[in-house]
Amino acid sequence: MNFHIMTLFPDMVMNGLNTSILARAMDRGLISCEAVDIRSYTENRHGRVDDYTYGGGAGMLMQAQPVYDCWRSIQERLPQKARVVYLTPAGRVFTQETAEELSREEELILLCGHYEGIDERVLEEIVTDEISIGDYVLTGGELPAMILVDAVARLVPGVLNNGSSAETDSFQNGLLEYPQYSRPEEWRGRRVPEILLSGDHAKVDAWRLAQSLERTKQRRPDLYEKYQLAEREHSC
Ligand code: SAM
Repeated sequence: MNFHIMTLFPDMVMNGLNTSILARAMDRGLISCEAVDIRSYTENRHGRVDDYTYGGGAGMLMQAQPVYDCWRSIQERLPQKARVVYLTPAGRVFTQETAEELSREEELILLCGHYEGIDERVLEEIVTDEISIGDYVLTGGELPAMILVDAVARLVPGVLNNGSSAETDSFQNGLLEYPQYSRPEEWRGRRVPEILLSGDHAKVDAWRLAQSLERTKQRRPDLYEKYQLAEREHSC
């Protein structure tokens, strides 16, 4: 899967992505990430990419022309029309479900805004999806883009060493993950639950499910309700 990230801060994006599991996935050719500098497409001879907003108001807005030309330079190299995701607080909130849906794409173009955002006309022209990473405002779309790439890339087959570890993660089955323990068996007087040492896989699975259900009920009643509803529908 190939990620093309349109940004004014390509180093920030590449430094963030080029580590650990994602760096290994890039080395192994399972994913590729390129950060394309929007500024290098501006026709402004001083290298400007932003201007005042019509109608007044504080702050500057990224202009349509450099964003459009940057997108065109990427799209021209791709075999087919790619989805273009604009990271914005005004988008639909990013979830594990969205990550799964996007992980089925071969090419994905991500657009990072800055300042007050981007001229609406270029968004109308090129953007297919608007995604928010939560109900708060950041200074730019770079961190949201990195979050999206990380969440999507780890679902690409082969990126995680143990293919099943994504399946048991929180949200994958609609529940939060159960608590986990590693060695030693006792640490500062706290023992690992006996059942996990029993070697009885069926009992361990049942314990984990019960823990997941309890944790989700306590911490995310909204998810718990959704899960119960789906279970009821499933059994009808
Ligand atoms: N004026 C915009 C608004 O009120 O919706 C906020 C602009 S924000 C300061 C600059 C850029 O950061 C946005 O264009 C977007 O790309 C990114 N951004 C900020 N918060 C975000 C969020 N919660 N999710 C996704 N992108 C975000």
